[in-house]
Amino acid sequence: MLINVSTLLLEPVGSARSYVAQAERVNVEEAGYVRTIDGTIGMIRSDRGILVRADLHMIAALECGRCLAPVEQELTIAFDEEFVPERRPDTGEPTPDLTPEEFRIDEHRHLDLSEAVRQYEQSAIPLQPLCRDDCAGLCPSCGQNLNEAQCGCPRQNTDHRWGALTGLADQLRDQEHD
Ligand SMILES: [Zn+2]
Ligand SMILES: [Zn+2]
Repeated sequence: MLINVSTLLLEPVGSARSYVAQAERVNVEEAGYVRTIDGTIGMIRSDRGILVRADLHMIAALECGRCLAPVEQELTIAFDEEFVPERRPDTGEPTPDLTPEEFRIDEHRHLDLSEAVRQYEQSAIPLQPLCRDDCAGLCPSCGQNLNEAQCGCPRQNTDHRWGALTGLADQLRDQEHD
């Protein structure tokens, strides 16, 4: 998603613009990342570049944390970030002191929000999205989707995901008794 900021970059510090995104496509090719976003984007000319305040919504395609079924979930992401031009708008010289972590404005003076959206989406995604609250998940032994059918495997009382922790707890207890 590219926003042309060539005019804003030539304006004095403090100049502002706002931008409404409607079904805009966000694309980070290297990461195979494609989303459609809606929302508002505020931009203020800063000393070094442009401060962006983004307030966005999107539908993320996730996987159920229990049964791996596809789950579509609406996410809201909001962030403030500074975008720095690769070349100084006045002289066209490369910008000094650009760090690899900084978001860039390319030499055509296009501000691309895609990578920021991708990074902030990661922190907005719930740790365990569910296809439904009572999803029964997959059988840990045979992999049967228990929402669809039961299998013949014996049910264990211990949730297999906590197995490692149970082991650790036992080990700590043993050490105490030494
Ligand atoms: Zn599920
Ligand atoms: Zn089973």
